[in-house]
Amino acid sequence: MTHPINRAEETRRWWHEVLETYLEDRSEPLNDRYWSPMDTWSRDRIRAVQDEKIAAVAPFLYENSGFYRRRFDRLGIAPTDLHSVDSLLANWPVVTKQEMMEDAIANPPFGTYTTCGDAEWADRGWMHFSSSGSTGVPRVFRYTHFDRRFWEQANARALYSGGLRKGDIAFPMVGFGPHVFAWGVQYTLAKMNLPVIPGGGMDAKARAHHIERFKPTTLVCTPSYAFYLGGVMKEMGLDPAASSVKWMVTGGEPFSGVEGTIEKLQDLWGAKAVEFYGCTEASPHCGGYSCPEYQAGDENFVHLMEDIQVWETVDPDSLTPVPMGERGLTVCTNLNSESSPQLRFLVGDYTRLSDAPCACGRNHLKGMGCMTGRSDDLINLRGIKFFPVQIEEAVRAVKGTGDEFQIRLKTLDDGLDVMTVLIEHADAAAGEAVTREIRSRCEIRCAVEVVAPNSLPKSEMKAKRVYDERNKG
Ligand SMILES: [Zn+2]
Repeated sequence: MTHPINRAEETRRWWHEVLETYLEDRSEPLNDRYWSPMDTWSRDRIRAVQDEKIAAVAPFLYENSGFYRRRFDRLGIAPTDLHSVDSLLANWPVVTKQEMMEDAIANPPFGTYTTCGDAEWADRGWMHFSSSGSTGVPRVFRYTHFDRRFWEQANARALYSGGLRKGDIAFPMVGFGPHVFAWGVQYTLAKMNLPVIPGGGMDAKARAHHIERFKPTTLVCTPSYAFYLGGVMKEMGLDPAASSVKWMVTGGEPFSGVEGTIEKLQDLWGAKAVEFYGCTEASPHCGGYSCPEYQAGDENFVHLMEDIQVWETVDPDSLTPVPMGERGLTVCTNLNSESSPQLRFLVGDYTRLSDAPCACGRNHLKGMGCMTGRSDDLINLRGIKFFPVQIEEAVRAVKGTGDEFQIRLKTLDDGLDVMTVLIEHADAAAGEAVTREIRSRCEIRCAVEVVAPNSLPKSEMKAKRVYDERNKG
């Protein structure tokens, strides 16, 4: 009988070997269109590599994660039962944040859902990140320098696909927090030999002055912040659209699928917005990303990097796969990490997948309409369900409304739950137009209150737009 410690090491060695087989160490692109040859792999080739990785990662997870071992045993599945995408989808139920949170509570402070233990952390620990979820205990993820090399390549493929080239100068405007987006981009820019002007620790006016004086081409921030900064520049008498900025690399919030929002931001800056989509748990580097064609058709989309991850969509109630092209919640199997290679993790954003070929030459799946709201953010008002982004679309559809808005939910004395949407507009009559837009998009009646332009608080980082003060229970 093999000693369990050895099995843990043996499976880790195998998993490392498989990962290393597909690791590139590029600081330069393959050519003027693609960073990596994997960008244009055929769908058959992608599937074969996914199968190979699943066969190696299942035993690795069984031997190195208490959370996974207990789940395999409870389901009566052997690690060898999972050896391909098909067998994974047939045998392994979706993993939810709730399950991870329970594990984190039972096994503080790290939980047992990752495969970076104290030994790996001491030997090659890179960074400690936290999930950005708005509810419950934070789930933490420790990643290693082994992982970092894989992040750099995945993110470089995404940034290059979005349009960044030699000569670009990045200006990341982010705090020093445990969030995967900014750190991943920072390390990747270094790998790509692109210069960086650090933009943390200063207020918006100082950042505006930096843009004017030092002429970065690329902002790295949340979409809310790009709106905010553009507004501050205008107040200072500067024109963001006349600035040196050509690209906005955005992440952290649903964005490019929100009708009207991306156009508004691109107009404000006279620059192209490209998106990074992922999550701390299973797609810490870029999972979804923009290509040169992503705004060319009827609806925007993001590609999903499939040689390193398996992406699928599931029904929100049964959590079983929906057919290609039908709306469902995103699920990611991460096959690109020694620290957090999750199997079928419910990321939980709504999208529709398409495997139709893309004019950019990438054969990786597309999330059509991009990502429009995490299921956790769903608002249920008197039984009618909708996302804050649908309200945002309604607000954006009316000309002259300010960038900020608020959704306020409360319970009246008679027990009725009601919603008031606050918008900024110079003309009080705009409220009626927004009311009509909301009714047509969400089929809900609500009050719209018009306040003076620039009177709502600006969001510096992630926008807080929903204030739920309803009586619970
Ligand atoms: Zn494309």
